[in-house]
Amino acid sequence: MTDRPPDLIKFLGTAGARFVVARQLRSSAGTFVRLSGKNIVLDPGPGTLVRLAKSKPAIDVAELDAIIVSHLHIDHSNDVNVLIDAMTSGGLSKRGLLYAPRECLEGEDYVVLKYLRGFLDKIAVLEPRRTYSFDGVSFTTSAPHDHGVETYGLSFDRGGQKISFLVDTRYFQGLLDSYAGSDLLIVNLVRLNPHESGAVLHLCVDDVRRILAAVRPRKAVLTHFGMTMIRAKPWVVAQQLGDELGIEVVAASDGMALHLD
Ligand SMILES: [Zn+2]
Repeated sequence: MTDRPPDLIKFLGTAGARFVVARQLRSSAGTFVRLSGKNIVLDPGPGTLVRLAKSKPAIDVAELDAIIVSHLHIDHSNDVNVLIDAMTSGGLSKRGLLYAPRECLEGEDYVVLKYLRGFLDKIAVLEPRRTYSFDGVSFTTSAPHDHGVETYGLSFDRGGQKISFLVDTRYFQGLLDSYAGSDLLIVNLVRLNPHESGAVLHLCVDDVRRILAAVRPRKAVLTHFGMTMIRAKPWVVAQQLGDELGIEVVAASDGMALHLD
């Protein structure tokens, strides 16, 4: 027996896109993932530090082990610097890992402050379709997403169970390969309907239906909702998709915890 804390995913925030984030109609904090006793934050959007501290039970930022940033957009990266500072006690204890696409580190709009970088044990550059491991945690990046900036989703390998985070992207066929075999698929579903222009680089309900029908995960969780999704009530959309496809689909809510054991 070990007293290792149970594996879980906690949705600190479920907001996507500008209006929902700007008005904080839902929290724009990122997602907390605990696997193999390691504490990971994925996509630390605005409010992540606050939501970690106010989480019940509170999540001690000084005990974070890794931060993963899928892309540099502000609703995914805003709190990365304050989290690096907090998890290293302002640099007094050199520790922790950061995973991010090169663009977040070296691009014109790099988002990780340079003076903080040396506080970390290691910064690993995310590249497409690569596997990364640390301390018993392993994940593989997706093909590059179609999102205007360098973006990767990822799939954790939890002892053969594939737990995937399909982050921001426009729909393309290659998504089906990257996320094939997912047992649990968490999808950023920003829009209810496709945008007339076709130029919006986010998934809508029709896209997600297509993905879920092909991947057929054991469970799907919808999150990262824009205004049209909020108005349509995400739990209603989830129920309809689930009924149509015959798989369990739930809509995340702020603070929702998914226990993996
Ligand atoms: Zn984005």
